[in-house]
Amino acid sequence: MSFKPLLPGSTSASGQQITLGVMGGGQLGRMFVQAAQAMGYFTAVLDPDPASPAGLISHFHIQTAYDDEQGLAQLMQRCEAITTEFENVPAPALVTLGAHRPVAPSAACVAVAQDRIKEKSHFVQCAPISGVFPAPYAAITSAELLATVPADLLPGILKTARLGYDGKGQVRVNNRDELAAAWAQLGQVDCVLEKLMPLRAECSVIVARGSDGKSVSYPVQANTHHDGILAITAVHEGAVPGELAERARASTIAIADHLHYVGVLCVEYFIVDNGQGGQDLIVNEMAPRPHNSGHYTQNACDMSQFEAQVRALAGLPLPVPRQHSPAIMVNLLGDLWFSAHAQRAQAGEKPVSPPWAQVLALPGTHLHLYGKLSPRPGRKMGHLNITAPTVAQLRDTTAQVLALLGLPALDAA
Ligand code: ADP
Ligand code: MG
Repeated sequence: MSFKPLLPGSTSASGQQITLGVMGGGQLGRMFVQAAQAMGYFTAVLDPDPASPAGLISHFHIQTAYDDEQGLAQLMQRCEAITTEFENVPAPALVTLGAHRPVAPSAACVAVAQDRIKEKSHFVQCAPISGVFPAPYAAITSAELLATVPADLLPGILKTARLGYDGKGQVRVNNRDELAAAWAQLGQVDCVLEKLMPLRAECSVIVARGSDGKSVSYPVQANTHHDGILAITAVHEGAVPGELAERARASTIAIADHLHYVGVLCVEYFIVDNGQGGQDLIVNEMAPRPHNSGHYTQNACDMSQFEAQVRALAGLPLPVPRQHSPAIMVNLLGDLWFSAHAQRAQAGEKPVSPPWAQVLALPGTHLHLYGKLSPRPGRKMGHLNITAPTVAQLRDTTAQVLALLGLPALDAA
């Protein structure tokens, strides 16, 4: 069923400005709100935190729990259509909303992304069409299953099925004893054990799929993580080998199609040695929303991932996005507000803003801060998109930015 277009700047049957809603008020919600407002929509955010980044700038901020019936009723009363900015929004809340309003992505799609066991079996189902498999894995849902784990999954990584992010909820294990200990350490919750893969690199793809079933994909993003958190995304000629990039894009569209997905979806991939001197692609996980690795689209593409989210939700056309500049995104964690060592933050050191004037004096630097009041080590405070006419210039500006911020150089990253 196609969504009825909610035309920008129009009013609803009850005479109020067309309002788009979002479950969750973090930075992704904030950037959705900014994109929606740029197109003339009113916005409503549901998030219990009075200082949530999106709540601070939205026309309406409903400050209740995500499963609060009155809060959900208010959101439905305000909004013509509703999206989500984090995957752990309670699925029943999306079911309630979806019974009365267009909700994208749907509760069913979010439920798959919330649970690594469902997610991986979805990837396996898609593999004949997508051409890409997940790493070999086993679901661990009982103590008995621990003993039946095939030996070739070790060494591996035990990951909680739910609520893991930024490398949290994961333990590396070398043998069965360590596996049993890790499962106990994770609280004996449902987990997947994944074979440890020889990663050469990591990449991700953003697709936007409309309610008419048409998808568009963005160029493939090369991602570098530090301590399990995304540090840098590079999107330019040569960042990801061309043949793998095309496969990753096609695979991501197949994964979205198979879910009848509506909205913006990000799928993460590993690039691994194939054992024959070449490289292969492994599908890792997906996020039912715009993604940190897609932030470069704000300044390097003619339609950002957040505008794509607005368009998909509002039933507007989704033309093929064009990247007009090579780009690198640098994540800005709270550590940057403290001198040299993150530990000082705990020792009561007062946070000091990074040298933005010097950074912004460099051509093609675009600062995005999320309006979070207190920087803390590991907290995502913002990101910096860097664009340039050539890859050489892009790398040169990035090197200067990283030096100014005291971050590791690109090649060391
Ligand atoms: P999260 O939800 O924390 O992002 P991921 O599954 O993406 O969880 O794992 C975090 C990181 O751990 C990945 O980006 C990758 O660097 C590493 N990793 C995860 N699974 C594997 C694996 N099977 N083999 C090797 N490295 C892995
Ligand atoms: Mg990940």
